[in-house]
Amino acid sequence: MVTARAFLAAASIGVVGSSTMLAQDAAPFPPPKHAPPIVTPGRTSADPPSDAIVLFDGRDLSKWRSADGSPAKWLVRDGYMEVVPGAGEIVTADSFGDCQLHVEWATPAIVKGEGQERGNSGVFLMGRYEIQVLDSYQNETYFHGQAGAVYKQYAPLVNASRPPGQWQTYDIIFKAPKFDDQGKVTERARVTVLHNGVLIQNNVEIYGITYHDRPALYIAHPPGQPLHLQDHGNPVRYRNIWIRRL
Ligand code: MG
Repeated sequence: MVTARAFLAAASIGVVGSSTMLAQDAAPFPPPKHAPPIVTPGRTSADPPSDAIVLFDGRDLSKWRSADGSPAKWLVRDGYMEVVPGAGEIVTADSFGDCQLHVEWATPAIVKGEGQERGNSGVFLMGRYEIQVLDSYQNETYFHGQAGAVYKQYAPLVNASRPPGQWQTYDIIFKAPKFDDQGKVTERARVTVLHNGVLIQNNVEIYGITYHDRPALYIAHPPGQPLHLQDHGNPVRYRNIWIRRL
């Protein structure tokens, strides 16, 4: 048992109390050597900042391809693109790893189907890790399959969905996984997602490829991979897509 006298003696030489211990252990922080680069922000936080790569500005699909490399076959109209059911997913011509991604999407105003069949699409980071797009406004499904889920892994923290037909936003901060020479994952991917400005995924660790029918699994891939948007058979719309490499 520590007596009051012994405690005071110890305190006076700085070995009691976590703050004292931390102060003793801490070294001075080296000041950063470089000024942060200057980035001109967009007019609003939905507009691309000066260092963003605009992947879709409402005009054409020049930054996108079909999965087989042929021209992307989704519809472009009135400043948005729309999934053409059966046309297949579309993928970016460029590859990305760590990134900040802004995507706007809308599920069909005329509601058809239920559960996973209502306004389903998806943002596939590195073509493998899906942030679910779904009409989750008064539409029940499994929780880790609703809008903003890391598909079959994490439900969103809250359901911040707008009604069908209305434009919604995802702001995604993604850290790519790392693999060793043998192809074993050494750092899992991480993702943070804001849905309509509301935090719904808080730096969660992704377990691997977001399969719908089997457990998640990592399979080694290069550090940059195209972004995919899913054709799940529903005419979901997208607009104003931009990305910043991190
Ligand atoms: Mg989906």
